[in-house]
Amino acid sequence: MTKEINYSISFKDPSEHYCEVTINVRNLATESLLFSMPVWTPGSYMIRDYAGKVQNVSVTDGKGAYRPAEKISKNTWRVAAGGSKEINFSYRVYCNELTVRTSEVTTEHAFLNSSGIFMFVRGLEHLPCNLKINLPKDWKEISTGLEHTGKNKFRAENYDEFIDCPIEIGNQTILEFQIKKIPHRICIVGNGNYDPKKLINDFKIIAETQIKFLKGKIPYQNYTYIVHLVEKGGGGLEHLNSFVVQFPRLNFNDAKAYRKFLGLVSHEFFHLWNVKRIRPVVLGPFDYDKENYTQSLWIAEGWTSYYDNVLLRRTGLINNREYLEFLEHEVNDVMRFQGRFHQPLRESSYDTWIKFYKKDENTNNSQVSYYTKGALVATMLNIEIISATNFTKSLDDVILALYDDYLNDASKGYTEERVKQICEELCGKSLDEFWRKYLDGTDELPIKDYLGRCGIEMTDANESVKCSLDIEAKTENGKLIIVKVFAGGSAHAAGLSSGDELIAIDGYRIDNELMNKIIGDMKAGDKVEILASRKGLIRSIKVALLKPLPKYVLTERKDPSKTEKQLLDKWIEG
Ligand SMILES: [Zn+2]
Repeated sequence: MTKEINYSISFKDPSEHYCEVTINVRNLATESLLFSMPVWTPGSYMIRDYAGKVQNVSVTDGKGAYRPAEKISKNTWRVAAGGSKEINFSYRVYCNELTVRTSEVTTEHAFLNSSGIFMFVRGLEHLPCNLKINLPKDWKEISTGLEHTGKNKFRAENYDEFIDCPIEIGNQTILEFQIKKIPHRICIVGNGNYDPKKLINDFKIIAETQIKFLKGKIPYQNYTYIVHLVEKGGGGLEHLNSFVVQFPRLNFNDAKAYRKFLGLVSHEFFHLWNVKRIRPVVLGPFDYDKENYTQSLWIAEGWTSYYDNVLLRRTGLINNREYLEFLEHEVNDVMRFQGRFHQPLRESSYDTWIKFYKKDENTNNSQVSYYTKGALVATMLNIEIISATNFTKSLDDVILALYDDYLNDASKGYTEERVKQICEELCGKSLDEFWRKYLDGTDELPIKDYLGRCGIEMTDANESVKCSLDIEAKTENGKLIIVKVFAGGSAHAAGLSSGDELIAIDGYRIDNELMNKIIGDMKAGDKVEILASRKGLIRSIKVALLKPLPKYVLTERKDPSKTEKQLLDKWIEG
């Protein structure tokens, strides 16, 4: 009987961006084998069809004789073993996209997002996976969360764990520190203006603060941070005992950008618990062939978005004002736009496969993010619990209770009923109405009132701005083109559309700067005539100017009441 699956990978010509994979299966007791490539990566909820990058599939038996392989679906190959006891299934994968959810092979390094590289043998996903990496001669380092078993050899308990460990190979810089003797390695790919000492200090205090919050137990034997320094862009993806993040290489001295980076580090690290261990019941074991639907990403991602910043505040690396800046971003992402009245939060989670990762020009008008609205709902629930328990309990106790559930039975995920039950027990009241309005419904979030109860004022910085078109525009080949038209704004009310080219206002030919100047001199109630080109036809559109959409600012009141201060202290300090 087959006891393990043996993978090997090599890089014969990295300049062409290929890696070569062989999957060796021994002691076969079956006539045919199915090899499949996942269509998605856990943590990034979109169908990515990784099999699209696979080519040159070839199969031999243990004696090197040819065996036929037939493709039977977009991501599955059937191999007729023909009585052989051993099969070697080989293929090449084209890797030329460096994001946290794709792979890149160049002459300098390889980053392997394993779910897009290594296929599984159907029915044998539970078996241990061994990996042998054949290094190009100039590459010295391998960074991964996989268990190290020998020179360039690694192992995972099963396929799920195997592909939940991305691999960075090359000559990356490694910074190391320990927490309770457990090694942590920051693997930095590419040059940048970072200070290694500061990076170690900040990563360490973030990890220590979170570990302390989650009962002091470290749920891994080692941790690998893979940090890609890029020209521009960002993003992160959580894994079992590692994460991958991207950050612009020269942004380390930009204090605000660096705070956001630490927020991202805190976010991905917190997923160690929320998602990787405390997980919705439907997210795992994963089905790698299709969408895995869940309504619970408002907890998995939304609460993580809440805790990344709160826990960063608790490290002392940021102050209250800087913490409120993060919250301000979430408030504005939700409360500025009309999308909040059209898509319930739980539906936003369910539809992530077809909406969140496929944003278009109308997204702000039609959708909410389960990250940002989820974080605001977490904030509201937290304040509910703190108030109801006379400052003795908070949302922290909900996370800890869910973690206890996990520690009692790691095989089970949580249900939303369980989450609601814990919240209700703490509050001593039904939260039916809260759930109905803010999770299943699209009622306006009373976030301003909730924040007010903690002595935080939410004001509109656009109150003093007289009017706005409320569009997003860009200059393309000398043309000023509308990218987005925000519902509720003057351009939207007048029927302007994304794709329209703006030519003139009231007879004045405009560019972006001039448009802002002309509109800036006017006030709500004024009317302008805009000359636009739509699909090549010139139109004259009358626009009645309105006040701009709000832009919220959060500030701590200088004279909070005792209750307000107690609420905020419990929230921030835990
Ligand atoms: Zn996340």
